[in-house]
Amino acid sequence: EITMPRPPRRRTMCVANQKGGVGKTTTAVNIAVALALHGNRVLVIDLDPQGNASTGLNVPHHSGVPDVYDCLIDGAPLDAVTQQVEGIPNLWAVPATIDLAGAEIELVSVVARESRLKRAIEAGGSNYDYIFIDCPPSLGLLTVNALVAAEEVLIPIQCEYYALEGVQALTNNIELVRSHLNPKLDISTVLLTMYDRRTRLADLVEQDVRNHFGDKCLNAVIPRNVRVSEAPSYSQSVMTYDPGSRGAVSYFEAAQEIALRGAHDAQVGGVA
Ligand code: ADP
Ligand code: MG
Repeated sequence: EITMPRPPRRRTMCVANQKGGVGKTTTAVNIAVALALHGNRVLVIDLDPQGNASTGLNVPHHSGVPDVYDCLIDGAPLDAVTQQVEGIPNLWAVPATIDLAGAEIELVSVVARESRLKRAIEAGGSNYDYIFIDCPPSLGLLTVNALVAAEEVLIPIQCEYYALEGVQALTNNIELVRSHLNPKLDISTVLLTMYDRRTRLADLVEQDVRNHFGDKCLNAVIPRNVRVSEAPSYSQSVMTYDPGSRGAVSYFEAAQEIALRGAHDAQVGGVA
């Protein structure tokens, strides 16, 4: 029985890792869908100019569609660029179009350039239980905007050699943002992705990551599963494409852990 209690207040989670191909987008999309299918109101903000999250959620994102660029550069409120995700109740998305490719450079000369996304969310994100921000594979101003807007960071880590390499640069950046721009920021969640249980390497990487991050690391581990990689070509998440697959079941487990941890944190806070 899967239960995913709604959090007492909105959780804004930035899905970040400056390495490409580690499962950021797959994680953002599938965790968001899992939570929405279990009664949470969820928004996914696609902050990667490649628009993979928009594609995976089947949200129109051709040139000319209002997108997250309008929030960052023109100061549009979130509601003005949000679309309902078809076929999944409780799920919305802010797409990324090709326009976003220029934003990294255009942002440099914009007022309050690090907090544009935070402002947009404050002007229209109040209806959600969760906001997931899918970051590009870099530590530039787009990712900084996500880190300033969020309270939690979810780091997906691919189970391969050198898995932890680069994570230090990410945690240093998170530390910088925390001390200068967003004291509430916290690495709350680490998720192991593309785990291949036939290899001893995956085992060693898992031990390494668990030693490094302790209980921030979810118990659920996402296996390498072909159904997960097929789903986007059908404009679906694996949760709807093949809910019985190992990939989907693992993402459900991960989403449930995230939800239960959120509920628990609130209880602890309430007691204190
Ligand atoms: P990122 O957003 O970090 O660049 P993606 O989520 O796009 O990474 O994943 C990179 C590629 O790996 C994609 O083609 C995706 O479909 C595939 N992939 C992600 N997770 C899995 C998995 N658990 N099993 C198999 N393929 C996966
Ligand atoms: Mg991506």
